[in-house]
Amino acid sequence: MKIDPHVHCRDGKQSYKETIAHAFMVADAQGVEKFFDMPNTDPPITTEEHIKERLKLVPEKRLEDYYIWIGVTSDENQIREAVKCVENYKNVVGLKMFAGKSVGDLTVLEKNDQRKVYKTLAGLGYKGVIAVHCEKESLIKGELWDPKNPVTHSKSRPKRAEIKSVKDQIELAKKTGFAGTLHICHITCPESVESVEQARKEISVTCGVTPHHVLWDQKMQKRPDGLLYKMNPPLRDKKTVAGLLECVKSGKIDWIETDYAPHPVGEKMFEPFMSGYPSLYLYKDFVENFLPSIGVSKELIEKMTYGNIARVFENKLK
Ligand SMILES: [Zn+2]
Repeated sequence: MKIDPHVHCRDGKQSYKETIAHAFMVADAQGVEKFFDMPNTDPPITTEEHIKERLKLVPEKRLEDYYIWIGVTSDENQIREAVKCVENYKNVVGLKMFAGKSVGDLTVLEKNDQRKVYKTLAGLGYKGVIAVHCEKESLIKGELWDPKNPVTHSKSRPKRAEIKSVKDQIELAKKTGFAGTLHICHITCPESVESVEQARKEISVTCGVTPHHVLWDQKMQKRPDGLLYKMNPPLRDKKTVAGLLECVKSGKIDWIETDYAPHPVGEKMFEPFMSGYPSLYLYKDFVENFLPSIGVSKELIEKMTYGNIARVFENKLK
């Protein structure tokens, strides 16, 4: 059994990008049985009504394999409703917070608002998972991005934006008495992994890595098709990638999540130069060939593709 806890199926208005039904076809071909879909759709998924509508789009035979993260905002009533959905719907696997702006408008950018989220969750006694996209908005330098020189994307979203955001989330979870599990999505910097390692002593915290952040560095953006390699967080420099690989090898990363985010080639190579890579297509080769080739043990691969995920989402997956 293999699970991908981070895919963007879109569907609805964005069916031209991807649909739940087609994402299952890709997953099947890649040896992935179940996946967790993300809520930054158009419109975003933040209410019980949205969840009901979403579940109607799932092929009936795959309802046992489909899970969705519900988005959180800084609105207390919305957070309460989202928590109820996690409690009442087996398919709603946890909460997702975008602490930095990526694709879509579902964001909680200010640290004070993020604090409100953790505080509200602590008050509600929420014991589930909150998955966070960590890139601190105030450290992102959008003005550096130049589509004629795609590698500027990596420069506009520097490592420190992730490292600082990860520190913020850990600090807020600790200080507010948040009692659930904090999951750091698609971690890219060894420094962020070290923060997670330190925090494990005090709080329940996990992190995931994508195939693309381990396989490639930012030079990929210097190719003629470099715009295809624009994603958030961005590809990093060679040294950072080597460091991240060591973190994978030493078992410091809880799981592999593809952050599968397909867009039409035209939307990536031309305006609006969308961010996102369809990394579920990399999955099988990554876990069956690449990871063993660099000496990652079978046991560790099993944990990163299933075991650790099954442990954290025990009540959802049984
Ligand atoms: Zn994502």
